[in-house]
Order: sequence, then structure tokens, then C-alpha cells
Amino acid sequence: MTTTPTRRHLPMVSESAGITGQALSENPTTGPLIDSFGRLIRNLRISITDRCNFRCTYCMPEEGLDWLPNDAILTFEEIDRLSRLFVRLGINEIRLTGGEPTLRRDLPDLIARLAPLEADGLKSLSLTTNGILLPRLAPALASAGLTRINVSLDTLDQKRFWQVTRRDALDQVMAGLESLEAYPTITPIKINAVAVRGFTREEDILALAGLARRKPYVMRFIEFMPLDAEGNWETDQVLPGDEIRAIINAQWPLDVIPGQDPSSTAVTYRFSDGLGDVGFINPVTQPFCRTCDRIRLTADGQLRTCLFSVDETDLKSPMRNGADDDELERLIRRAVWAKEQKHKINEGEAFQRASRSMSQIGG
Ligand code: SAM
Ligand code: SF4
Repeated sequence: MTTTPTRRHLPMVSESAGITGQALSENPTTGPLIDSFGRLIRNLRISITDRCNFRCTYCMPEEGLDWLPNDAILTFEEIDRLSRLFVRLGINEIRLTGGEPTLRRDLPDLIARLAPLEADGLKSLSLTTNGILLPRLAPALASAGLTRINVSLDTLDQKRFWQVTRRDALDQVMAGLESLEAYPTITPIKINAVAVRGFTREEDILALAGLARRKPYVMRFIEFMPLDAEGNWETDQVLPGDEIRAIINAQWPLDVIPGQDPSSTAVTYRFSDGLGDVGFINPVTQPFCRTCDRIRLTADGQLRTCLFSVDETDLKSPMRNGADDDELERLIRRAVWAKEQKHKINEGEAFQRASRSMSQIGG
């Protein structure tokens, strides 16, 4: 029988400490999920499709990728079952992603199924999207119980938007963002921009930062990672978050917001005049693996313990072959225990590309 996790079962590690400096010797069979470095795992990203209607140059080739066959993709019932199990094991944040998650038919029904997990400890149910379908979907997402959203947007310039996404859709994405403003239960509205040296210009950065000053959106800049399907990433294409921050700070001074969650991927600043927030996600120049509390489930039911994993744990096949929750829990605990210590992007030859690209993993 599976035991419901309680605080009593917590190994001796601070929730916020991340790696304890001391490897733990034994994988607990009860209590919240923990890895061998003492990191508590609280955050699950679930990819619900590998398909996408954009072709962002830093993510996918123009012709797309070989999509998974429909029967390989987890059904809503399967996602629901695994989500329940994960929440019982201490996951308190679930983010639905893809590919482009809004392409999954009846997405609001899935959100409505997962939202009641709040009663079992789920604190946040969020979505990462390119935003193009939000003008149509925002009302249904809000009434289904979505509590947070991240919209990807790299530039406010029409032509450059087309250059990066290979789609002429800036107006629809902006309309999608506006439509979210009518639903105060979806908060915060975050915008994520991937910054690529050689593409992202000072004008793009200041226009996006300016948007965060005019609108109730938290703007975040993400460093380009070697997760593009074409394998074109080069170190010199990384535009460090500190450079972006200096550009913004010169125009509108920024103050770091004190007391931020150490497991957060972003460090967030507030404009000194109080007119909005802007965050920096710097996985390449300032890795945050020490405090990583994330795991990922791919659209075809493979558990990944790092964006850069080269191994996965198949949960779909056992589930479809009749595994009970105890069996699935054992598989999950074993996978989490073996979570990678850190990525090796900055370690030259030691770096090995992930076994899938960003859109196939679920970013
Ligand atoms: N299609 C949705 C979207 O774009 O928001 C969700 C999936 S997308 C893979 C999730 C996030 O990954 C997006 O914010 C996207 O910009 C980011 N991303 C994709 N490729 C990336 C890369 N090579 N480096 C850093 N971030 C990347
Ligand atoms: Fe699609 Fe998102 Fe990848 Fe862009 S970043 S191609 S929107 S999955």
C-alpha cells in the first residue's frame, strides 16, 4: 500500500537548500520525492503534445519534426492518473507545455480535471504557450481553473517576429495577452523571451522591457540553450542575462526583489519607479542546478529528470500494461533519486546533447 507523504517522512534537508553538500545514502520509500543530492522535487512539467504551429529558429527546423503518432501520446485519463500520483508524492506545481499545448484538443477539459488537485496540495497549475490561440481560448482556460500562464514572445517588431517564429502572428499573440487581462484568476501573466546574440537587439530588449512597464506582464529573458533540434547552438550565441539587465538598467534602473524562492529559475528585478518587474533566467552563465526542483513528463509518457537528460524512464508502457500506483511510484522514486547533478553546458567535451530537443521534451 502507498503511504501518503507527510512532513514526518522528510529526510533531514532544508526545503530550500538544494544540494546539501552531502550525498544522501538511501532513497526513501515514503515521503516527498527527493534525489541523491538532497533536492526535493516539487515541480512537474507535463508536455501534452510535441506538435507546434510555430517554427522558432532556436527550437525547431522550418519543416517541423517527426511528430509522435497519436496512440503514443498520453490520454487525458493517463495524464490525470499520473498527476494525482505525483501530487501525492509532493509535487505542488504543474505546468502544461509542449510543443504547443493549445493545439491539444479540449485543453480546458484537461485543466478542469487537474484543477481540483489543489485540495491535495497542488499550489499552481500553469501553462506555457506561444499565445497565438489565446484570443479564442482565454475564457475557457480561466473558467477551467488555470492559475498562471507564460507566453513566449521574443520581439515586438512584426518583421523580426516572423523571422524568429517563421509565422506572421504577432498581432494574435498581442491580442492573446490582452485577452488574459480580463481574467484576474490567471496571475501573474509572464512573458518569456529567448535572447540570442546575433539576433536579439537592444531595441527588442527595451521594447519588451517597456511592455512590462505599460502592462501587467512580468517580462523574463531566457538564455539560449543547446536544445535546438538542428544542433546549431554555439556558445557565442548566448547573450548573457547580465548584459540584458545592464541594457535595461541604463534606461530604467532596476532593483533586485529581496527574498526570492531559491528554487526559482529566474532572478526578478523591479523597476526602481515601481512600474513593473523583469526577470532573468540564466541557465548557461549562472546555472541553478543546485536548487533545481523540476522533473518533466514527455507527451509520450517518459519521465525526464533534467532538460539535458540522455536517459528517460518509461511510465506509459507500465501504466498501459496494468501497473498499479505502487509500481509506478517505485519507478518514479528510482528515476528521481538518479536525477543528474547538473548540466555540463560549460564543460566542453563533457557536455552531451540531450536525447530530445526542447519542443519534444516540454520546456
Ligand atoms: N510552444 C510553447 C512556447 O513556445 O511557449 C511551449 C513549449 S516551448 C518548447 C517552451 C519554452 O522553451 C518557450 O519559452 C521557448 O521560448 C523556450 N525555448 C525553446 N527552445 C529554446 C532554447 N533552445 N533555449 C532556450 N529556451 C528555449
Ligand atoms: Fe513551438 Fe514553442 Fe518551439 Fe516555438 S519555442 S517552435 S512555439 S515549441
